[in-house]
Amino acid sequence: MGDTKPLGHRSETATGNTHIIPAAHGHAFVVKKGDHFRIVDLYGEQVVDFAAWATRPKNFGYSVDFTEKLSMAYTRYHLSGATPAVGEYLWTNKDEPILQIVADTVKVHDMTFMSCFPEMYTKKGIQGHRSCATNMAEVMLPYGMGSYLEVTDPFNIFQNTPNYSLKPLGSSKPGDYIEFKAMKDCVCAASCCPYDLDLFNGGKVTDVAVVTGIKS
Ligand SMILES: [Zn+2]
Repeated sequence: MGDTKPLGHRSETATGNTHIIPAAHGHAFVVKKGDHFRIVDLYGEQVVDFAAWATRPKNFGYSVDFTEKLSMAYTRYHLSGATPAVGEYLWTNKDEPILQIVADTVKVHDMTFMSCFPEMYTKKGIQGHRSCATNMAEVMLPYGMGSYLEVTDPFNIFQNTPNYSLKPLGSSKPGDYIEFKAMKDCVCAASCCPYDLDLFNGGKVTDVAVVTGIKS
């Protein structure tokens, strides 16, 4: 038996299935109830926008239920705030837990801001900039999503924006991670935030990792 800890903090060895999300891109992945997975900041100060939708059994597979999704409003209601602790849940708009936070080396995240979106960049005079909204729509396209306007309000992992402030405070260090347990079958979308203005994301957008198949 070797070190069986999944990719995570500093010197831990990678096990499970590690998917590297290239800087400023997205990734979608399916998890079953009871599965554990991690979002890992490989280089530090990189925000990851995260969303999830419930899936339903269908024939021998599943279909995505776009009507039931991770909801930051429902989650804030249950938390009586916007700061989830280890052991607490993220909720859907059907008022059911979809994910539980089971480990968190950072404990600083945001659930008040929307994803960055194309018009945010065009209004700043930047054409064709990648965005979290379009990243998530891009990776959710094979699951049936049509437009980035269908992307729900995200859980902004590693985003340090207390009291709705927008300053490049940063929160995570290289190797930091948050680990979730799925409370229901779902498909998750994660976007390595491409926002490279005003020194956000450490001033340089960098790769992050998703580790699935973690043995709890
Ligand atoms: Zn973004």
